[in-house]
Amino acid sequence: MSSLPPIREDRIICELPLYFTKDAALHTKDTFHVTVQDACQSQKSDPVGFNVAKVIVVGDVGVGKTCLINRFCKDSFDKGYKATIGVDFEMERFEILGVPFNLQLWDTAGQERFKCIASTYYRGAQAIIVIFDLSNYYSLDNARQWLEDAMIDNDPSSVLLFLVGTKKDQSHPDLLAQMEHEAIKLSEEIKAEYWAVSALSGESVRQFFLRVASLTFEASVLAELERKNTRQTGDVVRITDNHNDIKALRKKQANCCN
Ligand code: GDP
Ligand code: MG
Repeated sequence: MSSLPPIREDRIICELPLYFTKDAALHTKDTFHVTVQDACQSQKSDPVGFNVAKVIVVGDVGVGKTCLINRFCKDSFDKGYKATIGVDFEMERFEILGVPFNLQLWDTAGQERFKCIASTYYRGAQAIIVIFDLSNYYSLDNARQWLEDAMIDNDPSSVLLFLVGTKKDQSHPDLLAQMEHEAIKLSEEIKAEYWAVSALSGESVRQFFLRVASLTFEASVLAELERKNTRQTGDVVRITDNHNDIKALRKKQANCCN
């Protein structure tokens, strides 16, 4: 741990970032839950190791999942980018209320084309980001199916859902309004938080991921406190080494996507 560089300044979160629209927000409070604030306060004097949450990103091929992750993690947009098979996730480090917190952002390595995403990919997610393309109605239509598939290996009561429309820059204003209307309706129904972003221009990308990190962190701390009243708050979210998961995923990819 001590050899890691300091956390980037724009990944340090002291205030709860706001929702995108009140109509489809996971919650509309403007501060972190007071229990979480207290837990973090007491943890500062007793720092702990590695708190990690797994976030999976799903949606039709070509909707812009990889570009969105790259815009946030690398602050770049490369039109010719192709996901490399074997790259499983990006790790993004945050500091939230003084506590180190990491998001594992799982991108598919092109296997969504074959609808053969391994359950290993889905399993144990704290947050699911379902992506659709704001300029393509069918991708929104498919979002529901993506969510259903992703939920098979997860506990609905403990997973946070985000429905994200991408390519806002290229959606015609009329279509955009209509798509947003439908997307907000779907978000309400599936209890997801709705966002509209553009990886090309970068619009709302950072705000979105800071919100994902913050809400995931908040939910994880609350769940952990509830589960282990006796345990020190220091152990907030301990996800394990997913080494075996990754190995199994690679094997599945090799088997079904060739
Ligand atoms: P994935 O298959 O879901 O990972 O999609 P990609 O991230 O590979 O993106 C598919 C295509 O959409 C690429 O040609 C990107 O250049 C393009 N794209 C992705 N995001 C945006 C965006 O925000 N705006 C525009 N105009 N194009 C985008
Ligand atoms: Mg991709």
